[in-house]
Amino acid sequence: MYFPTQIDAILERMQNIDPVKYANSRNYVDGAVTYLSPYISRGVISTQQVYQEIKKMGLPWGRTEKLIQELVWRDYWQQVWNEKGDAIFLDLKNKQEPVLNYQIPKAILEANTGIIAVDDALEQLFSTGYMHNHMRMYVAAICCNIAKCHWLVPAKWLYSHLLDGDLASNHLSWQWVAGAFANKKYVANQENINKYFKTNQQRTFLDVPYEDLLTMEVPNKLQKTVPFTVNVELPKQKKYSLQNRKTLLYNYYNIDPDWYFGQEVQRVFLLEPSFFKKFPVSQKSLDFALQLTENIHGIQIFVGEFDALLQWVDSKNIVFKQHPTNKHYKGTEESRDWMTTSTGYFPSFFKFWKKAKNEL
Ligand SMILES: Cc1cc2nc3c(=O)[nH]c(=O)nc-3n(C[C@H](O)[C@H](O)[C@H](O)COP(=O)(O)OP(=O)(O)OC[C@H]3O[C@@H](n4cnc5c(N)ncnc54)[C@H](O)[C@@H]3O)c2cc1C
Repeated sequence: MYFPTQIDAILERMQNIDPVKYANSRNYVDGAVTYLSPYISRGVISTQQVYQEIKKMGLPWGRTEKLIQELVWRDYWQQVWNEKGDAIFLDLKNKQEPVLNYQIPKAILEANTGIIAVDDALEQLFSTGYMHNHMRMYVAAICCNIAKCHWLVPAKWLYSHLLDGDLASNHLSWQWVAGAFANKKYVANQENINKYFKTNQQRTFLDVPYEDLLTMEVPNKLQKTVPFTVNVELPKQKKYSLQNRKTLLYNYYNIDPDWYFGQEVQRVFLLEPSFFKKFPVSQKSLDFALQLTENIHGIQIFVGEFDALLQWVDSKNIVFKQHPTNKHYKGTEESRDWMTTSTGYFPSFFKFWKKAKNEL
């Protein structure tokens, strides 16, 4: 699993998606998933762009609907974040219960749950920064519903490792699995993992009937829990020469090489220490984002808080894209690309989807 950072390779990946195969196989370990999320999450491409690419294929709606629906899931979580703001870091709809601790199972950090498919996927996450959607659900279910850890710490841990780390898609999915943003908790047993991850394992702590999964004691393997910490080291500030003129502000969530493409403007990639302290990411994830900035001609990296940038550039010269993490920026805010005109908080995805589907 390889995630190139040159824009040509990224666009080629987008042009080669197969919505039809996707629909039949996305839940399987070797399914025809797109591997586009690291580029969507880092703002290199948008869900709207992927949607336009799908439309160009001229396939009947029914054969592309599944992939389009997943792209709409992403927009949905973004809208929830826009509306709810920092409330997404708390149990949003229901209190997660029971909760035994605010830590993460040590076995997860050490890829040592004893479940082969899960441990292999954890190793792969550490080496590539990617994990399959279905496996993310299994891992979240193990942490929240089997080990009974509150979802927030394990969510922060996964977010830090993912190249596609996105606080809405990640934290809200964890809440969904833990029953904090859904009416029931998600669980899966060993048989389900064997089917979708093509293993043939038995006698693990998940090798039990479904009705026992939510009521069983925390298995020995998951009893030891630990806090999660990571210290992110931002790059050393290189020399920069900033002028007080029109400045496009990029950040961890907006590395769009197409933004004002070809125009003579100043471009700054802002790395705010306070943001990365609050939401730390792995070195791998940060390096990936830095490599993506190489697609943007003339971009300068500024390691510091937004207010420090104002010493060089007046806010009236600053342009940035709307995002919940940007609320303290000053200047001209531009909207992001969305797939549809639906905005606001919809309590359930399917209400959002119904409206989106009509429009699409
Ligand atoms: C516990 C958990 C944590 C997650 N954390 C993140 C995260 O931090 N960042 C992130 O981008 N996604 C996250 N997801 C959603 C999903 O797992 C990934 O978007 C998907 O696996 C990325 O791989 P892909 O690009 O091959 O997806 P594909 O299956 O090819 O889907 C195409 C695109 O649709 C969107 N999409 C697909 N599935 C989902 C979904 N369930 N929710 C929202 N959007 C979706 C993504 O933008 C993805 O790139 C999480 C899911 C779970 C269950």
